[in-house]
Amino acid sequence: MRLDTDPYLSRYALRVTGMSASEIRALFAVASRPEVVSFAGGMPATSAIDMEAVEAVVAGVIRDEGALALQYGGGQGRPELRELLLDVMRHEGVPAHADDLIVTVGGQQALELVAKCFLDDGDIVLAEGPTYVGGIGAMSSHRAEVRHVPMDDDGMSIDLLEEALAQLAAEGRRAKYVYTIPNHQNPAGVSLSVPRRERLAELAVEHDLLVVEDNPYGLLDFGGRCLPSLRSMIPDRVVYIGTMSKTFAPGVRTGWIAAPGPIRDKLVLLREAADLCPSNLTQMIVERWLATQPWRDQIKRFTELYREKADVMLASLEQEMPPGVSWTVPAGAFYIWLTVPAGIDTSDLLAKAVGRRVAYVPGRGFYADGSGGEQMRLCFSYPELSRIPEGVSRLGELLHDELELVQALFGDDAPSPDRRLSGPTSGVGG
Ligand code: PMP
Repeated sequence: MRLDTDPYLSRYALRVTGMSASEIRALFAVASRPEVVSFAGGMPATSAIDMEAVEAVVAGVIRDEGALALQYGGGQGRPELRELLLDVMRHEGVPAHADDLIVTVGGQQALELVAKCFLDDGDIVLAEGPTYVGGIGAMSSHRAEVRHVPMDDDGMSIDLLEEALAQLAAEGRRAKYVYTIPNHQNPAGVSLSVPRRERLAELAVEHDLLVVEDNPYGLLDFGGRCLPSLRSMIPDRVVYIGTMSKTFAPGVRTGWIAAPGPIRDKLVLLREAADLCPSNLTQMIVERWLATQPWRDQIKRFTELYREKADVMLASLEQEMPPGVSWTVPAGAFYIWLTVPAGIDTSDLLAKAVGRRVAYVPGRGFYADGSGGEQMRLCFSYPELSRIPEGVSRLGELLHDELELVQALFGDDAPSPDRRLSGPTSGVGG
C-alpha cells in the first residue's frame, strides 16, 4: 500500500487536493526513449519547419528591435500581432476585429482563463465525449463538472446535446458553456458536420448558451477545406480560441482568444493577474514569421506530411489489427481514435505496450467520468513516417495476444466495462 507522505496535504486549496499527474505526463518520459514508437504525444512535426527562415526571423527581431522585444508589454497582447492573427483567421474564414483578440500563452492558457472567468465550484460544462485532456484539466481545476455528449463521425451528437440540456433543465440547472473542438477533434479525429454546426448555433440561441470553440486544427485539413466556424454563425455567443502551435510551432507558446467585448475585458484582467502580459519576444517572432515568411506554404507542407502519415497509419491498421478493433478515419490534423474489443482495458494494457516498444494514450484521459477504457488515441503527426508501420505492427501483435487471452479466460462473455460512452466507431477496419 502506498502511504501519502505529502506533508503539505492539509494546506492545499480544494482544487489541488484531487489533482494527480495525467497519463500523458507519465507517458512522455517513457515514450521519448528512441526505441519506442510513440503515438502518444500530440506533437507537430517541428522538424518540417524551415529552420533557416526561423533563424532569420529570430535574429532579425533581436537585431532590429531587441530592447523592445526584451521589455514588458500590454496585457491584451501587441496590436501588431493581433492584426496579423486576423490574417490567420481570415485564411480559415473566421471573422474578427483586432480589438476582440487577446494574445495568450498557447491555447492552453486560453482554456484556463476562460474556465477561470466562468466556472465556480460544481458548475456544469457540456463537452464532447471524448474531449481534450487539457480542456478537462482546465475545467476540473476550477472544480467544474464536465458532462460529456457522445460523438459519432459527424462530431458531437446535437440530439444528445439537446437531451443533456433538457436533463439539466429538469434538474433546475444550466450549463455555463458548451466546450467544443469542431475541427479534426482531439482525440477523436472527426469534425462537426455543417448541418450540426447550424443546429448547434440554433440551439445556442434557443437555450441562451455560450459556446467555447477551440480550434487548433482547422487549417490542417488534408483536402484544404475549411468548415464554417461557430464564431461566424453566432459571434455574440462564442468564445473562440486559436493557436500558432499546430500551424507554426508550439515552442513559441502563442495562442489567442476572440471574445465579445465584455468577456474580453474580464479575460484581460484575469490574464494580467496570472502573468501580466504575453512575452514580447515570442510575439515579435510570430509577427515577423507572419509578416515576412510564406506561412501558408508551411501549413501546406505540414498538412501534406500529416496526410501521408495518416494514410500509412490507416493502411497499417487495416493490415495489422485483429477483428473487432475499429477506428476513426481523420480528414485532417493529428489523431485516430481506436476502439478495442470488450475485455481489453487500454489503461491496463499500456505498460505491456511500452514493453513492446509502442506507446499510445489510453482513452480514459479524455473523459472526466472514467469512461474510455476501451479506447486509445493514436497520434500520427510526430513519429517518423518510416516507423509508423512498425509501431502499428507491435500494437497489432499485442492486441492479437490480448484477445487470445480474453477468449481463453472468458469465452464470448468478456466483460465490457464502459461501452455506454464509447467514441466514434465507424471507419471500422480489420
Ligand atoms: N486545445 C486542443 C484541442 C489541443 O489539442 C491543444 C494542444 N494539444 C490545445 C488546445 C493547447 O495547445 P497550445 O497551448 O499548444 O496552443
